[in-house]
Amino acid sequence: MLEHFFQCPYCWETISMLLDSSIVDQIYIEDCETCCNPIEIHVTFEKNKPCFVQNQ
Ligand SMILES: [Zn+2]
Repeated sequence: MLEHFFQCPYCWETISMLLDSSIVDQIYIEDCETCCNPIEIHVTFEKNKPCFVQNQ
């Protein structure tokens, strides 16, 4: 598992998220701990390096 930090697009709070690098293409939906808005993040892995497409 890979820990990744990113900013909430609604309140700009830093949130940590655990990513599973064994799944090449995945979508995470995480609720922000601060403002409770759902954040959808599309992650793809290229040679075990995460590549993010963040949807707002
Ligand atoms: Zn937030």
